[in-house]
Amino acid sequence: MTSLRSGAATDTGQVRANNQDAVLIAEPVFAVADGMGGHVAGEIASQVAIESLQEARATSRQELVDAVRSANRAVWQRAAAEPELRGMGTTLCAVALVPAAAEAHDGDTGERIIVANVGDSRVYQFHDGDLDQITDDHSLVEDLVREGRLSPAEARTHPQRNILTRVLGNEPEVEVDSWEIIPHHGDRYVLCSDGLFNEVDDDRIAAVLRRLADPEEAAHELVTLANQGGGRDNVSVVVVDVVDDGAERRAGRAATTAVSTTATNPALSASLAGTSLPTPVPPPAHTTTAVPAVGASSPPADAPPPPPQRSSRRFTWRSLLFVFSLLIVLGGAAAAVVWFARSTYYVGVDDEQVAIFRGRPGGLLWIQPTLAERTPLSFDDVPPARRAAVTSGKEEPSLVEARRYVASLREQAEAERRRTTTTTTSTTITNGDPTAPGAPAAATTTTTSVSGARPG
Ligand code: MG
Repeated sequence: MTSLRSGAATDTGQVRANNQDAVLIAEPVFAVADGMGGHVAGEIASQVAIESLQEARATSRQELVDAVRSANRAVWQRAAAEPELRGMGTTLCAVALVPAAAEAHDGDTGERIIVANVGDSRVYQFHDGDLDQITDDHSLVEDLVREGRLSPAEARTHPQRNILTRVLGNEPEVEVDSWEIIPHHGDRYVLCSDGLFNEVDDDRIAAVLRRLADPEEAAHELVTLANQGGGRDNVSVVVVDVVDDGAERRAGRAATTAVSTTATNPALSASLAGTSLPTPVPPPAHTTTAVPAVGASSPPADAPPPPPQRSSRRFTWRSLLFVFSLLIVLGGAAAAVVWFARSTYYVGVDDEQVAIFRGRPGGLLWIQPTLAERTPLSFDDVPPARRAAVTSGKEEPSLVEARRYVASLREQAEAERRRTTTTTTSTTITNGDPTAPGAPAAATTTTTSVSGARPG
């Protein structure tokens, strides 16, 4: 028979204001969740996922996968119900020891270690002194590395290295990767958020696991190293040791002693009662079984683990889509404003001259009207009754209509000038003495005065 003993630590890190990670230690189920979303949304997402997993039954591979799916629905429903939490999500990696489904034979007890994963938190197996990454990161750059379209070196500096391709809470259903592994006494499993492997490389993680036999000490040491490496993200570590059931059990350990004293996440759940003491057992031969995943596409990882990613903040595809959509909407709105502001003309005054402008009188938002063309018509020539309209800007739907309006101004000005000439001439003649010898001279004087008489 097999049992597990564990230790855990979680910390806000050196940069973040709050801890959006959450861990679950509820033997025989262990998990790490790394939430994301604005304000407290990420913290809530990881908390909801962990609480959902804690309540679920996970005594088989299928049940653990179903429990992760239930956690996904719980996060999704919470986000859908509360608009301020929309877009939140979380990673979730879990390890469970499940009882035998068949009778033991040939030294195989039938018990299994089940690993399940969504997102880029990781589960490592430490076996016979070697560290192997079991889970596959669900991130864009890791997908490209696996497809051979990106080198590990390029992935480390790729601008989209923070984008996750699969998380809990984005859709009502989620695909869950899972693995089934024969437990061997002496094996250690490390569950962690990206705050660990982005700061501490695999060799240093392995060195800690070789040096510190106590899982709690190992978990705390790994968190300490992550903080010493920069602590740019929340960091959570759960170390689970596979031990002989006959080993002496550790009794009475308080649940909260399993986590860092700097932990701030209320979702942190620890239940270490019944965990057993370290037992130095020589590791058996490596016999991890590669069993097709339940509802998943990823096999156990025999290939070298992908390189650590240097990331401090991550975005899901949905977040990226939202940003792009927002940019498109804003761009469309700006284009509409520009079109509205520039689609019309008006007749106004430029330096005492009637002119045609393109745009709205006085401008619209940041868009000012521009001079389309000046006309030979002086503002002084504009009929008095129409000057107010020209002064405030007479809008016309097109340049042709604006020119037509200016033409009408000129025609009216010309007509009024002719009428004034006729009236003044006849008045002069009437007021003069037609019989007087100087009458022709009076008419000449009138013509002169009219030519200088503009409306006024
Ligand atoms: Mg993180």
